[in-house]
Amino acid sequence: MQKERLQQAVPRLLAWYRIHKRDLPWRHDRTPYTALVAELMLQQTRVEAVKERYVAFLARFPSARALAGASEEEVLKLWEGLGYYSRARNLHRAAKIIAEHGFPTTFAGVRALPGVGDYTAGAVCSIALGLPVPAVDGNVLRVLSRLYADDSNVDDGAVRARYAALLGEVYPPETADFCEALMELGAIVCVPNGPPMCGACPWAGLCKAHLGGAEARFPVRAKKSARRIVHATVCVLRCGGRYALEKRPAKGLLAGLWQFPLFEGEAPAFGEALAEKHAKHVFTHVEWHMTGRLVETESELAPYVWVTARELRETYALPSAFRAFTEWVT
Ligand code: SF4
Repeated sequence: MQKERLQQAVPRLLAWYRIHKRDLPWRHDRTPYTALVAELMLQQTRVEAVKERYVAFLARFPSARALAGASEEEVLKLWEGLGYYSRARNLHRAAKIIAEHGFPTTFAGVRALPGVGDYTAGAVCSIALGLPVPAVDGNVLRVLSRLYADDSNVDDGAVRARYAALLGEVYPPETADFCEALMELGAIVCVPNGPPMCGACPWAGLCKAHLGGAEARFPVRAKKSARRIVHATVCVLRCGGRYALEKRPAKGLLAGLWQFPLFEGEAPAFGEALAEKHAKHVFTHVEWHMTGRLVETESELAPYVWVTARELRETYALPSAFRAFTEWVT
C-alpha cells in the first residue's frame, strides 16, 4: 500500500519539479565535486545564505585539486558566515583525498569521505553519480510523514530507515531530479514553518494528511531538550587601530576559529567601556547570551594576536556569532 502510493507520487513530483524548480547556482554545471561542496554547505544552513558563498567558493576553488592545495586559513575564510566550520575542514580533507584518488564512484566510497553522512552521500550519489540512493533529510521526513499521515516519531532512526527503504523501491532513472524534487517540495511547498501550500502541491490528491485536513499534525517529533544558556562577555579590545583576537580551543564549539577575547560570565577589567551592547547567538545545543564591550587599551596585551581592521576582514575567519560586534572594527 505504502509503495503504491509512492509509485503514484513519483511521476507527479517529477513533472511538478521540471516546471517549478528554483534556479540555484549549484544546479548549473554540476560535477561530483561541486555537488559535494553544495551539499556540505547546505547542511543546517538556509539556501539564501549559501547561494553567494557557494559561487565565491567555487570561483576560488573550482576543483578538488585547487581546494586541496589551499591553506586551512583560506578555506575557513571563504566559509565565513556559514557556521559549523567543521564542515569546511572536512571538505578540505575530502578534497585532498579526491585530488589524490579521484572522486569515489560508489555509495560506500562517497560515505567514507570526511564529514559525509548517509544523507549527504545519498544526495551526492543521486545528484551527481546517477546512483539510486535515497537521501532522507528533514524535508523528506516531513513530506513523507504527511503523504502517509504517519504518526511515527520522525526523529527515530528506524523511521528514517523505513522511508529510505521505501524510496529505494520506487527510485526512478532520473535520480538527480527525484532526489532534488523531494527536497524542493519540502522547501517551497510543504514548508517546515507555517502551513503547507497544499493548493500548489502535486500530491494534493494523494496526501493522506491533506485529504484528512490534518497537515499540521505531521510530522510527529520527540520533544527537543532545551538549549543550555551560556552568559559570556565579549571584549573588543582596541589599541592604536589594532584589535585583539584569540583562537578558540582545538576541540568543541567553533573549534580552532578566531574570536574577540571571550569570557564565560564577567570579563577582567580591561578599562572603561567606550560602548556596550547585547547579542544572542543560537547554536544547536547552546545559546550564547553575550555582553559586548569596546575597550581602548594602552598596550597590545598578551596573549592576544593584534590585527588591523583590514586584516580582520580579509584574512581572519570570524564566526557569525560575533557579527554584532564587528561594527566597532573600523
Ligand atoms: S498536500 Fe499539503 S501536506 Fe500533503 S505533501 Fe502536499 S503540501 Fe504537504
